[in-house]
Amino acid sequence: MELKIGENILITGTNRGIGLGFVEQLVDVPGVKRIFATCRNPTQAYKLLELQKNYPSLHLIKLDVQNDASIDNAFSEIEKLLEGDALNVLINNAGIGEMEGTTIDHPNRESFASHFDVNTTAAVLIGAKFMPLFPKPANKAQPALLINISSLVASLTYCPFIPTKQIAYSLSKAALNHYTRLTSKYLANQGVIVISIHPGRVKTDLSGHYGEITVEESVISMLKIIKDLSQEDSGRFIDLHGKDIPF
Ligand code: NDP
Repeated sequence: MELKIGENILITGTNRGIGLGFVEQLVDVPGVKRIFATCRNPTQAYKLLELQKNYPSLHLIKLDVQNDASIDNAFSEIEKLLEGDALNVLINNAGIGEMEGTTIDHPNRESFASHFDVNTTAAVLIGAKFMPLFPKPANKAQPALLINISSLVASLTYCPFIPTKQIAYSLSKAALNHYTRLTSKYLANQGVIVISIHPGRVKTDLSGHYGEITVEESVISMLKIIKDLSQEDSGRFIDLHGKDIPF
């Protein structure tokens, strides 16, 4: 694939679904030096382990995004593997979404807690932990990218349908979008582009029968958009074709 996306890339939740799709595409992108494919159980991430046999650029790192010690350990391991190089891209992809979960009528505290923990809090904590590894001083020719994988159902103004069964999921992704906005302003002059992106309705375990497109279609489309991002794009909420989604 003809892409220039950055040399060192970290992705969360890569053992299946969209995260795995990112890894499968990125291993063949020229110029990518290291891919830190993180997941909860690398020893059982059989597809990644198979891929690793042919791609020395691929590093499998244990990272449970809900566990602070796991985040710290992953940071130490990745910092060491970078050998002084910068991290160029961080993709906050790990997510949960109970399709038949908590509803407006029957909200469930535990469901809210877990959705916010994985989809929002973890992204913020991982962003804060790894941002210091972004290039310093900012390299304007190749800015760092902080990509938050969001969802159309997070939009406060564009509600194509009322996600009655996904209320915790929708709210947690709306909060993630606000993090995107705030972080983009916070990092405005530091050569870091921050976006939220909706991957489409992708056929994965998470989407179940709502899935419409394949992981490959989604990831290829998102990577084409991501590689052309510029500082002016920072703070945007876009779909997989680069079209703005209203917040
Ligand atoms: P999947 O359910 O297929 O994959 C989710 C991934 O997140 C898995 O690798 C899972 O790991 C990981 N994950 C969950 N909890 C944790 C955790 N505590 N620590 C580390 N990893 C964790 O979902 P998708 O690939 O579809 O979703 C990827 C992202 O895309 C999510 O953020 C989702 O909200 C978003 N999205 C997806 C859409 C779709 O149509 N599929 C639509 C809109 C947004 P494990 O195997 O260990 O559970």
